Amino acid sequence: MAIFGGGINGACVYHQLCRQGHRVLLLDRGDFACGTSQTSAMMIWGGLLYLRNMDFLTVHHLCRDRDRMIEEMPDWVVARALRYLPLHNGGRNRFVTYGALWFYWLISLLRRERPRHEALFPERALLKDNVVDGSFTFEEAVLVDSDARFVLKWITPFLKTDCIALNYCEPHGEYHPRDRCWHLDIEDKFSGKTYPVQTRMIVNCTGVWTDEVNHRFGIQSPVRHALSKGAFLIINRSPLHETLLVFDLGEHGDVINLIPWGPVALWGPTETAVDSIEEGFDVTAADVNFLLEHYHKRFSHTLKKEDVVSFRCGIRPLAVPRGYRNDRYPLDLSRKQQVVPDAVRPWISCYGGKITGCLTMAQKVANAASRRLPAPERIRIAQQTELEWFQFEGMEEWIPSPAYCRDYEFCCTLDDYLRRRTNISQWIPQDGLGLHQENRPLLERIAAEINGGNLSAAEEEVARYAANVGRRRERALSTI
Ligand SMILES: Cc1cc2nc3c(=O)[nH]c(=O)nc-3n(C[C@H](O)[C@H](O)[C@H](O)COP(=O)(O)OP(=O)(O)OC[C@H]3O[C@@H](n4cnc5c(N)ncnc54)[C@H](O)[C@@H]3O)c2cc1C
Repeated sequence: MAIFGGGINGACVYHQLCRQGHRVLLLDRGDFACGTSQTSAMMIWGGLLYLRNMDFLTVHHLCRDRDRMIEEMPDWVVARALRYLPLHNGGRNRFVTYGALWFYWLISLLRRERPRHEALFPERALLKDNVVDGSFTFEEAVLVDSDARFVLKWITPFLKTDCIALNYCEPHGEYHPRDRCWHLDIEDKFSGKTYPVQTRMIVNCTGVWTDEVNHRFGIQSPVRHALSKGAFLIINRSPLHETLLVFDLGEHGDVINLIPWGPVALWGPTETAVDSIEEGFDVTAADVNFLLEHYHKRFSHTLKKEDVVSFRCGIRPLAVPRGYRNDRYPLDLSRKQQVVPDAVRPWISCYGGKITGCLTMAQKVANAASRRLPAPERIRIAQQTELEWFQFEGMEEWIPSPAYCRDYEFCCTLDDYLRRRTNISQWIPQDGLGLHQENRPLLERIAAEINGGNLSAAEEEVARYAANVGRRRERALSTI
């Protein structure tokens, strides 16, 4: 069986099917987690916001998935108190908010901490006077490390088994009804070579690219994705910022968050309907202006260019009926996940979903796939090689070394290492280069380690990386 797409859904489906003993090939045309799964808020939450759509069943399921992860994966997912801050003027009525938090607690079968009112809290000192009207604390969960490493966690245990995971490999091909197999040519993006593969079943987990991939392989589906762009500013974290703050946005019944993450904080996200994928993965000046406007409404500190450490920006894949006309605010759309098997060919498409629901998505795919595949054999998972640690100047935490990531975590490029194997590009100014590009020599050594010691290629890679970072910052921060 082949899975296309190594974001959170593809990775989790891969894990589930490998564990059941199927022989599975996971393919991503970029790096694992290089799509939406590296751009999330990293919250494992039951979907408090979706109560406004009366989508109680989805909220109940997400709460169940969240609580299951807290229980079964304590090294990866931990319960965390969040602080909801109603606006003094505008926004939702605070009593309605408090009532909704209690209802939310009931829907999750009282498994988390009870919501409570707290008038005084440390972050109050960061806020302008009379902006918020008290605060309510309630409990959700967050990823311990990062969303991208959470994706890897599902893939790496099967390194030394019959299952194969390949990043930077793009599948092409077609279905042959005669032998009831898909005949694929797998294109290696680095060498340009192609390798033939036959598979009985394909699972399409390519997130916002699902419709495009379905179209290319001649698959039609009653469901499609509506696209909603979400951008964050990553700024330096104040020492007073302890708790994840959820502010009433005052528009569309939405919220905006200040999420503490190591030495930085994420401010956002935006929620903008977009028509094409190309519009969605880059932060624009309009996104930044929106985020700054809302920041300055609430906080007394004025953000300057040098306070912006980095950005996150991605597109939420939202499952909608094929005839949907892109005419609603994206938060009004359901976050429900849908697994759609093709009626004729052995092909399953995954739509919608969230990181929080990845286990349920994987279970649904495994159920749908096992009806069409022979009984699997039991496999043995080999012992994983112990992590090798590394310290990056300016970062307190120890991180996996470049050599370890190259050998055991599919790390092929400098960007893979800085963005998805570690948090360097999100925590260190200018995407890891440093405020005055003082980290360039260090990045060159890392790039050389990843590419097997070629120093001139490493210098070129860092130069390209720095030029990209410069261009992105220039475009996004042109108005401040
Ligand atoms: C701003 C924002 C905040 C969010 N916050 C949260 C949150 O706090 N909690 C939460 O639970 N969810 C959150 N989400 C939602 C969540 O991030 C997504 O639902 C989830 O990451 C989608 O994962 P995926 O695997 O479906 O897609 P992706 O992660 O996009 O993976 C798809 C993969 O397919 C690959 N691909 C594309 N085309 C091909 C091809 N032809 N062949 C092979 N591979 C291909 C891509 O390279 C990519 O790696 C957030 C989303 C956004 C945008």
